[in-house]
Amino acid sequence: MSTATNTTPVIQLRNLAKSYQTGEVEVKAVRGVNLDIDRGEFVAIMGASGSGKSTLMNVLGCLDQPTAGNYLLDDVAVAGLGRKDLAKLRNKKIGFVFQSFNLLARTSALENAELPMFYSHPLISLRDRRRRAVQALEQVGLGDRLRHHTSQLSGGQQQRIAIARALINRPELVLADEPTGNLDTRTSIEIMGLFQELNDAGITIVMVTHELDIAAYCKRIVVLRDGSIISDTRNQTRRSARVEIAKLDQAEQKAKLA
Ligand code: ADP
Ligand code: MG
Repeated sequence: MSTATNTTPVIQLRNLAKSYQTGEVEVKAVRGVNLDIDRGEFVAIMGASGSGKSTLMNVLGCLDQPTAGNYLLDDVAVAGLGRKDLAKLRNKKIGFVFQSFNLLARTSALENAELPMFYSHPLISLRDRRRRAVQALEQVGLGDRLRHHTSQLSGGQQQRIAIARALINRPELVLADEPTGNLDTRTSIEIMGLFQELNDAGITIVMVTHELDIAAYCKRIVVLRDGSIISDTRNQTRRSARVEIAKLDQAEQKAKLA
């Protein structure tokens, strides 16, 4: 399907625009965005509420088509694709993580993690599907919670299941929209640590956040305002989640002894 080489950016946006027509009113949610994201990047998309972050992510995730401009995903022009091809491309290349986890209730970690494979690999054997799901859950540190139901797990653990589910098809690209929005500080840093590990293993990550403290863990920060990019910078002072967690542990230890 793709002839992309390793040096082709995973994402290439050219004058990308997305408008919504609601009655008489046209909302220009994304206005002429140009952006290249290379393999192995870890990008934070920031901006005030209503600046177009989710709209841009929906287009990047092939959940929605732009109204103008071009989007090349791994050198494949997304704009020309119909719904079926779009879904195929999405399943193959992209994993999604959301603020609200979007897991099935009363369903085990395993079953949640393997869900995308029913669409992407309908003919795979139950055993192979299970094996892949176990692998993905081990990768996110939940190897000991395979049979637990969603409701028996903490928010951080639920988000880990969602990340395992996003990884199940071995995507090139993980898109996350406010993945730490419902989590406390320590758990948020732990999730950023997991993303940093996945990124170190070669997965490209694009993540929406409105918290500078969270964007600090990314390699690059893109800021949107009113649908346009107003800044795009390398993060020279990137935080390591492992270091920050160790600091938290130390502080807690000290507080206990005091
Ligand atoms: P953010 O995620 O940064 O908060 P959004 O992408 O959700 O921003 O929204 C950008 C703009 O587009 C906002 O003005 C919002 O009201 C509008 N918008 C988003 N989704 C829709 C929709 N489905 N229909 C109409 N307008 C929308
Ligand atoms: Mg949003």
